Amino acid sequence: MNRLDSYQLSVHASKLARELKGTRQKSNGGMPKFDNLECPVCKSTKCCGLIPTESRDNYRLVCLRDSCGLNSISLNMAMEKYATHQTKSEWRDALGWRPKNEWHGIKHRRPRGKSQKSDATSFRESQQQRQTLQHLKLLRDFQRERGEW
Ligand SMILES: [Zn+2]
Repeated sequence: MNRLDSYQLSVHASKLARELKGTRQKSNGGMPKFDNLECPVCKSTKCCGLIPTESRDNYRLVCLRDSCGLNSISLNMAMEKYATHQTKSEWRDALGWRPKNEWHGIKHRRPRGKSQKSDATSFRESQQQRQTLQHLKLLRDFQRERGEW
């Protein structure tokens, strides 16, 4: 994972804030903060902000409303949960985050429980099975006739 500097962080935070309809506020030691976001949980636009942490190495999406379940989450979590696909993938690219064996995993995933074969596949398979059985039966008859069974 790449460590992002405060400028990079603010660029991505700004994208998320825009998606949540927030307004950009004065810099807080070089990192802008964003107010009046539409809280993705309670939808209030009055108590949600995207604010740089004191150590300036992260942002937190915060909702100050007591009854809201959002509370405070890191920028990364906010991206994962609430950003659009585009913003999230740009964020992941910046972090150098790659899903492990994404395609590999999907290709090799086995159907759970009941067989999920399509009807066409099962039909073809049972046809083949029947043909094999018929073939074996013929072979057996043939061998029996020749006294080899
Ligand atoms: Zn909220």
